[in-house]
Amino acid sequence: MSLNLRTPAVALAIGAHPDDIEFGAGGTLAKWSAAGTVVHHLVCTDGSKGSWDPTADTAALVVTRQDEQRAAAHALGATGQCVFLGWPDGELTSDLRQRWELAYWIRKLQPTVVLGHDPWKRYRLHPDHRHAGLLAVEGVVAARDPHFFPEQQLPHHRPDALLLFEADEPDHVEDVAGHADAKLAALHAHTSQLLSTMGIDPQATPTEVAAQRAAFDQRILDRLAERGAVENVAQGESFKLMDDL
Ligand SMILES: [Zn+2]
Repeated sequence: MSLNLRTPAVALAIGAHPDDIEFGAGGTLAKWSAAGTVVHHLVCTDGSKGSWDPTADTAALVVTRQDEQRAAAHALGATGQCVFLGWPDGELTSDLRQRWELAYWIRKLQPTVVLGHDPWKRYRLHPDHRHAGLLAVEGVVAARDPHFFPEQQLPHHRPDALLLFEADEPDHVEDVAGHADAKLAALHAHTSQLLSTMGIDPQATPTEVAAQRAAFDQRILDRLAERGAVENVAQGESFKLMDDL
């Protein structure tokens, strides 16, 4: 188990949906942003299935979720871009077309560190998370080697490290003590997801909402404490580190 990468100049976090990046690496990205890293978000899908309401206006939801993602990035202190690839939610694949786009953005943004879902996490239900993870890994390979997609006319780029969140076999911890508040603020910025992913019902009474919010925050804080304990830090986020890219 390793602890803390050197603060990268540029980080690119790749998530399937708006909010995945904050759950997986919000504390780490807040820490690095505070230390001067340029943090970029790249969201693969349009998030259009992120509602339990069968009558929801999904076109409006897409716009709302992009606004929420930008607000969440701001809450983390991120100063980079929020890139939305806009593939339909629930239908993400990791074919050449998608890999082309990932390679393009890695070459364009030149991240020192790339972060993404662990595509090899066992018993994972959601296909978008698996495919977004594969795209992060395969995008790095295509971006790194000069003979992939030469029509992009961008210099090839090899990041120093890839950090996979939700890791099946975590072997790296980032100390995020002092940055839990930013992670929580970023998660709360995904207002449309309060009920479906955070168990906070905005229709409930203010007292109930406060209790639900406190319970959600405590779950996040408990997880940070649990992950940090492995490396004797008060709060941590864990990853699978790949640094032989
Ligand atoms: Zn997701």
